[in-house]
This record gives sequence, structure tokens and C-alpha cells, in this order.
Amino acid sequence: MNKNKTQLKGLTLEELQALFLEIGEAKFRALQVFNWMYNYRVTSFDKMENLSKPLRNKLKENYSLITLNFAASETSTSGTKKLIFETEEGNKIESVIIPDEKRNTLCISTQVGCPLDCKFCATGLMGYKKNLSAGEIFDQYLLAQQHSERDISNIVYMGMGEPLLNYNATLNSLKIFSEELTKGISLKKITVSTAGIAPKIVELADSGLKAKLAFSLHSCFEKTRSKIMPINEKYPLKDNLEAVTHYAKKTKTRITFEYIMLKGLNDRDEDIKALIKLTNQIPSKINVIPFNSLQHMHPTGFSASLFPTEKKRIDDFVQILRDNNVTVMVRETQGDDIAAACGQLAVKFK
Ligand code: SAH
Repeated sequence: MNKNKTQLKGLTLEELQALFLEIGEAKFRALQVFNWMYNYRVTSFDKMENLSKPLRNKLKENYSLITLNFAASETSTSGTKKLIFETEEGNKIESVIIPDEKRNTLCISTQVGCPLDCKFCATGLMGYKKNLSAGEIFDQYLLAQQHSERDISNIVYMGMGEPLLNYNATLNSLKIFSEELTKGISLKKITVSTAGIAPKIVELADSGLKAKLAFSLHSCFEKTRSKIMPINEKYPLKDNLEAVTHYAKKTKTRITFEYIMLKGLNDRDEDIKALIKLTNQIPSKINVIPFNSLQHMHPTGFSASLFPTEKKRIDDFVQILRDNNVTVMVRETQGDDIAAACGQLAVKFK
């Protein structure tokens, strides 16, 4: 439908200004279009009332404002809502709205599928299709807001895909959020989660954008981590810990270490010791995540040997960490009844 038209949604203010100068239009027009797209959230040039008719027609002929189409939604008993969107090529992606008393968090995807193949993650089991564009990443927020009764208050880049393997689009989407002109969500309320692409963590730290960073740690030991996250072979934990230390320093934020509890694998006493040492060295907190089992997907190989740590052991594990002055949050599993919980996205995606 929009095959030959250039996509405007996803352009940063700077890119939009450059484009308007290039097509012989005044620079301030870029500000107006930016405002219409990202604040008034219009999807048609005809609604951009402060642009002249000829300019609207010129834009209509050459540019598009539609990146994603809403396909379906499903609401869990806990109030978690899974949204399925379709890209122009017909790929399906998922975003999840997770309401609680204080926040209304949106979890967004950065890729269709994921190339990382983490052994505990459903998205990994499904394989990788493509990178999302900055427009497709940002549009999840604009569209999710339409499907949410409350304002979205926080965003986590924790849906399908690895944001730092789609670095430019991820960065541009963050830039759009960071513009003073953009109403809504500041970078302080946005967390980018990564499995650990060390050089890109450094690049993001040096970009000047101060989003929060979550690092999917899952084990403090290289060997174990490589077993459950093959990407650790390419970017070892050691390099990633240096990178997140740099990130914390540069952005003056605390790193969140995500830690899925896997029975017998990373829930032993020596894991607690290593976590205490690590969090003493890096300004951080730990987000303990109960493992959402993948058994319903009939995993094979190493994935089939992964089981959740029992509740009692999670409680003890957390208590010992807290007794040693480690800040720990325990993530509540929400939305597993509709396959919208962590690591379950794309379960039904074919
Ligand atoms: N690629 C990024 C973002 C997507 S994963 C990353 O790895 O951080 C978002 C979070 O969900 C990560 O912390 C991931 O480890 C967690 N997760 C993946 N599979 C899970 C599962 N089966 N149960 C619980 N959490 C899971």
C-alpha cells in the first residue's frame, strides 16, 4: 500500500528538519509535523491543520505515516494486556501493557523474533525474522496508548528481540522520546534491556541519552552463562561488566541486573556469594525473575533441562541477598495465562 512512500514516523527531529530543507520547505515545518506525529498522533496528513493544502498534498504523495496495524489483543486475569501488531510486510509483533498500582508499564519489541537463542526464552526458540524500524518501535507506544485506559507511565524495551542488535533504530526511538517537544514519557522512565552486546552498551552510554539499562545477567559465571546464553561466547560477561560499569558512570544511573531463577543452575549458595560481590562493585540492583517454564513449547536439547527454582528457595535466596545489603526486587509473573509473561512472547507467533 505504501510501498513507494518514505516513512516519516521514526524520524528524529534532526532528521525531519534535514528532510524538510532538502525538499525545499521551511525548517519550522519539521517541528509542526513532529508535533502532529508524536504528540497529536495523527495518521493522516489531512489532519495537519497548520500546514498549507499544497504542502499536505506533497507530503501525502511521497510519504507515509502508518507503520503498524493493530491486529488483536488479549487481556489476562491480572489486567496485563497483550497487543499484537502487524508490520507492513505482514510480520506479527507483540507489545504488553502491565498495569499495577503505581505504574502502567508498556513492554515493547525491537525485532521480529530474536537471533540470540537464549535457552530459557520462547522468542529465541522461534528464530529471527527482521529488525523493526524506529517508527515501528515508537508506534507501539502510540498505538498501545490508544488501547490503554490509563496513560502509559513507563516503557521497557523487553519484548521480542535484542535492542542493541538493532542499535540505530533503538537509538532513534529513544531520541524521539528524549526531545523536549515530545509529550509523555521521559528517558528516566524508560529501560532498555540487553542480553549483553558490550560495545553497543558503551556506545549507548556515550550517546548522551540517559535511559536506564537492564542487563540480563542470569549467572555470574562465564561457563554457565554461555550455556544458557550463547551470545556470551561472543561478548563475555567480563567485557559486559566493564561496559555496564561505564554505563552507570556515564549516565549516573543504577544498572538493573535481571536474574531468572533456574533450578540447580544459578540458585546455589555460590551464586549468592558472586551476586553480593558483583553488586558491591557496580551501582546496581537485582531483579529476580521467576522462570516462566517453556515446557508447553516442548523444548529439546538443553532448554528441556531447565526448570524453575521452587518458591521457598527463591524466598531464601532473596532474603540472604537483602541481609547482605543488596537491593532486590522480585518480579511478579503477570500475564502467563495469555502467554504475555517474560520470555513467552511469540509463543503463538508463526
Ligand atoms: N534481549 C533483551 C530483551 C528481551 S528479554 C534481553 O535479553 O534483555 C527481556 C527479559 O525477559 C530478559 O531479562 C530475559 O532474560 C527475560 N526472560 C526471557 N525468557 C524468560 C522466561 N522464560 N522466564 C522469565 N523471564 C524470561
